[in-house]
Amino acid sequence: MPVSGPDVSDNALDTLAPSRQLAGQIALVTGASRGIGRAIALRLAAEGAHVALHYRRDPALAEGLAAEIRADGGQASLYRADLAGPEGVEELAEAFGRDFEHLHILVNNAGITRDKLLLMMDDEDLQHVVATNLLAPMRMLRAFAGLMLRQRYGRIVNISSSAASKPGRGQSNYAAAKGGLEAFTKAMAVELAPKGILVNAVAPGVIETEMSAQIRALGEGEILSRLLLKRYATPVEVADAVLYLASPRNRYVTGEILHLDGGLKMA
Ligand code: NAD
Repeated sequence: MPVSGPDVSDNALDTLAPSRQLAGQIALVTGASRGIGRAIALRLAAEGAHVALHYRRDPALAEGLAAEIRADGGQASLYRADLAGPEGVEELAEAFGRDFEHLHILVNNAGITRDKLLLMMDDEDLQHVVATNLLAPMRMLRAFAGLMLRQRYGRIVNISSSAASKPGRGQSNYAAAKGGLEAFTKAMAVELAPKGILVNAVAPGVIETEMSAQIRALGEGEILSRLLLKRYATPVEVADAVLYLASPRNRYVTGEILHLDGGLKMA
């Protein structure tokens, strides 16, 4: 049975009055049009940030999100790019640079899985997963950290995964990429701390999005039995953790990996 208590459903959390602690800030969220990225974008916008929504494929979905943010009195801009290669990151940086001179928050959320046993994995499966989950965030920091350096302020949050420390079968490419992302997060915390830029990661367990649908369908009982809290998390719960790490209220946490996994590590 899930642990009971006050109503923490998405609907209840969405009715909490935002404090607008991000008013005047600009945030860039990759892979923002759906799933966890969408929830993060909505949360940052509700707190007053102008959110630059990056998406890869579906303009209608991204435009729908921007319209939702604007209808709530928020601000949003749209940027399309495939981040699996260096050109996509460069295009995104150029387009963003035409609109903005500042960046306060960068959330590297875009990610992909291609689960297979290693012996069945072709080179494309290896390269694409590593390129999207690890190289893209590295290139994003290279392209965007300069804006934060100039203003001597920034908050960077990388979305990792519990697979980095507790991989499932068939996740070698994804686990290696996310493990690399966690090491990269710590390395960048070291490089950027002197300039007032804090770099952290959130490592979600199983979150109710399209990405985890297959895993949830295959191993429902087994996965839930390994979670202390006996339920999956919602994208809004990830967004709340990101909001803390990305906000000015976070002044002393950097190089940290926040495991948002319902107690998977201990179960
Ligand atoms: P999702 O599949 O719904 O969203 C992934 C997003 O990444 C999409 O918007 C997609 O367009 C974007 N993306 C993928 N490849 C891209 C590319 N080459 N260029 C640009 N954008 C690209 O998945 P989600 O569950 O919302 O995942 C968001 C993040 O959370 C990912 O980094 C994922 O690894 C991580 N995560 C998810 C779970 C989970 O259970 N859902 C668990 C742990 C970590």
